[in-house]
Amino acid sequence: MVEKQKDMLGYEQPAPLGSAARFWPLTAHRGPGGEVFVGGVGLGAIAERYGTPVHVVDEADVRRRCTDYRRAFGGEVAYAGKAFLCRAMARWILKEGLSLDVCSAGELAVARAAGFPAHRILMHGNAKTPRDLTAALDYQAGRIVLDSPTEVIRLAALVGAAGTGRRQQVLVRVTPGVDGHSHPAITTGTEDQQFGFSLHSGAAEDAVARVLARPELDLVGLHCHIGSQVERVDAFERAAGLMVELLARIRDRHGRTLPQLDLGGGHAVAYRDYDIGSAPAELAPRIEAAVARACTAHHRPVPRLTVEPGRAISARAGVTVYRVISVKRSTSGRVFVAVDGGMSDNPRPALYGASYTVALVGRPATGAARMSTVVGRHCEAGDVLAADAYLPGDVHAGDLLAVLCTGAYHHSMASNYNLVLRPPVVAVHRGTPRLLIRRETDADLLRRDLG
Ligand SMILES: *Cc1c(COP(=O)(O)O)cnc(C)c1O
Repeated sequence: MVEKQKDMLGYEQPAPLGSAARFWPLTAHRGPGGEVFVGGVGLGAIAERYGTPVHVVDEADVRRRCTDYRRAFGGEVAYAGKAFLCRAMARWILKEGLSLDVCSAGELAVARAAGFPAHRILMHGNAKTPRDLTAALDYQAGRIVLDSPTEVIRLAALVGAAGTGRRQQVLVRVTPGVDGHSHPAITTGTEDQQFGFSLHSGAAEDAVARVLARPELDLVGLHCHIGSQVERVDAFERAAGLMVELLARIRDRHGRTLPQLDLGGGHAVAYRDYDIGSAPAELAPRIEAAVARACTAHHRPVPRLTVEPGRAISARAGVTVYRVISVKRSTSGRVFVAVDGGMSDNPRPALYGASYTVALVGRPATGAARMSTVVGRHCEAGDVLAADAYLPGDVHAGDLLAVLCTGAYHHSMASNYNLVLRPPVVAVHRGTPRLLIRRETDADLLRRDLG
């Protein structure tokens, strides 16, 4: 019998994954011989079959996060596709009743190829190109989130030129001036950055007036996204209050009661012991209560709410498995464990100091744990996957390491730096692995190089 323990969010985890259990996908457990099974498939077997590095995604974990969100939030839940999108992922979230955020013609093309219904798609982006907008109109994407005065004009013109008589539903992205207190590179709700229309300067109200003046556009609501990895729920509550206040001002000025309010994503995920993860069952009542309070205060009906979790849906479902290529000790005594991937498959540590939990898989851990620095294979000293990983003292070349919580913003941010081939994505479910995205090949690289 597998012994059960509960993680911080109340999910049952088969033991024993020790203190790291809450960073593993929901189905993970360690079997005899030290092997870790995800979705019923051993990570060592995956490394054998598909090579390393390899991104592994636990389908049951993704689906469970989706249903938890759907149960917790009364309104609409839209998955932010930029976190990780492929056709299979689009179908999973579709089946679980979520909507989908895209922010480029490319993401839209994948959604479209998966048959994701247009009316459940929202398009975002602070600098949508004419190609992005045309692709959205061509597929009749449900809502486009407007982000600049130029875009209001450009979109209205494109809709008019299409000559279909269809009015495009839009939201206006507002910058509410709320600081989510996450890393500056992923803080998007404060003044003085490139997203949306400022609330305090009056730009947001101006934008609303411009949109209402365009018959091609149908303003259905407002949007804000205060940042990513926001651990403080009060930041979402404050943003909600300010947004409802703005909705009330719009009603007073234009006589329009906008039916929708999209409060964005950014719900935090725990990557390390000291991180505070957010559970939808705790977030939803607080955010919904904040909206309801503000609506009562401003005598308006409660709008239909949308939330847009990205990482909270897909981060923990993912694990990246690497093979150790070499172990070195520096003159200062620091232990460097170098693996066969790095900043090309995971640029987050270099971009914003992201930090991870790392585990030895495929064999039992022996030797006292020691502080190790897990580095990648790229030609930069900044190619560090984990600066402070506790790994068994006998880690050696040929071992497998799993970096946890890599289901969001990893494959989607991967590059070909050093002309390294991007890793495959393998879904695991009920004992069966399924290749969702194959490994890149030299031929892929050369296909775009026209000599
Ligand atoms: C990135 C983004 C999200 C998702 O952010 P997470 O931190 O992954 O939840 C949601 N909405 C918008 C507009 C975004 O840009």
